[in-house]
Amino acid sequence: MGKKTLRDAEVKGKKVFVRVDFNVPIDKEGNVTDDTRIRAVLPTIEYLLVRGAAVILASHLGRPKGRPDERFTLRPVARRLGELLGREVRFAGDVVGPGAETAVGYLKPGDVLLLENVRFYPEEERNDPEFAAKLASLADLFVNDAFGAAHRAHASTTGIAAHLPAVAGFLMEKELETLGRLLADPKRPFVAVIGGAKISDKIGVLERLLERADLLLIGGGMANTFLAAQGYDLQASLVETDKLDVARTLLAKAGSGERVMLPVDLVAAPDRERPDERVTVPVDCIPAGWAALDIGAETLKLFEDKLRPARTVFWNGPVGLFEVPGFDAGTLGLAKAIAALDGTTIIGGGDTIAALKRAGVADRVSHVSTGGGASLKLLEGKELPGVAVLQDR
Ligand code: ADP
Ligand code: MG
Repeated sequence: MGKKTLRDAEVKGKKVFVRVDFNVPIDKEGNVTDDTRIRAVLPTIEYLLVRGAAVILASHLGRPKGRPDERFTLRPVARRLGELLGREVRFAGDVVGPGAETAVGYLKPGDVLLLENVRFYPEEERNDPEFAAKLASLADLFVNDAFGAAHRAHASTTGIAAHLPAVAGFLMEKELETLGRLLADPKRPFVAVIGGAKISDKIGVLERLLERADLLLIGGGMANTFLAAQGYDLQASLVETDKLDVARTLLAKAGSGERVMLPVDLVAAPDRERPDERVTVPVDCIPAGWAALDIGAETLKLFEDKLRPARTVFWNGPVGLFEVPGFDAGTLGLAKAIAALDGTTIIGGGDTIAALKRAGVADRVSHVSTGGGASLKLLEGKELPGVAVLQDR
């Protein structure tokens, strides 16, 4: 990796501002219901603590619209982090100003402090230089371990780096290396599976994967648009009629060799509320007025066959409306098939990860990326602002 990491920095006796992505789901009772993102940064925090640094953690949570909002407080995260670390995690009720400065003033080596939600200030998302300077004034070193927020240029992800030495944390390093290798030097065959609702979110990624992968398997709502571009009547299915040309261009780029594979059968229903009436039909036989909401069993089998010899697999995007039982068989089957492979398996995307968990196989893939938007941006070949500001090696 071309950027400096924690290992390159002197941390003993320092106050270290660590930007993390603690944007986790919290229930009404204030319990963190999925702590994956918290666990993912434990190596960085523990490394700093063992080496005698004081750790100041900052994160966003949800979209509080630039003002304090109890619904988006990070307090429950401090509690959960304390349990995971097995030590006290202090909580500052503010991000900057006296509330934060006092809490930071008390910090000794080996202490951990979590600041309140950085998005309680509109200056955060505006990347306001004065706000960034205030954040920086709390610490001696900036560590960015918030891969999931690295595609955004905010005060706590980029602005702060103008005032402090800035290096990558271990999660950031792992994400950049894993996803970087995927495009630069994948073990072949490299098979990519792309799904999700729409092409429009993922045109850049599709183009790049078309160049780099040996085979692209396409499912989900996005596949409908490709099928429609080929002339099939998708009836009431989700189709992006303004993206038919994009789909045609992508298919033309793939050429006549079997580089792209689309569904051969689909699960259709009168609408998404009526899964019990679903039928599996060939792509050219969707009943009039019905919608395709999952890949069919034959497509799943075809995809499984194509995945079996793969030595590298990247999967982003559910291949159906997996939130609704009845339209989830394709996505859950695909998750299990990918988890059973021996090769390197890399999964990205919030909904895809949710599906992977539903299938009970999240711990059986090589890498689950913690960044949805960030991982897609990176795969498009774009430099992430939160990475660009880190010191070069
Ligand atoms: P990720 O978050 O993993 O990047 P996306 O957000 O791109 O994935 O896509 C996930 C969404 O796509 C899910 O809400 C899923 O229900 C929807 N989806 C997938 N296939 C279909 C379909 N055939 N019709 C409607 N929605 C679909
Ligand atoms: Mg999503």
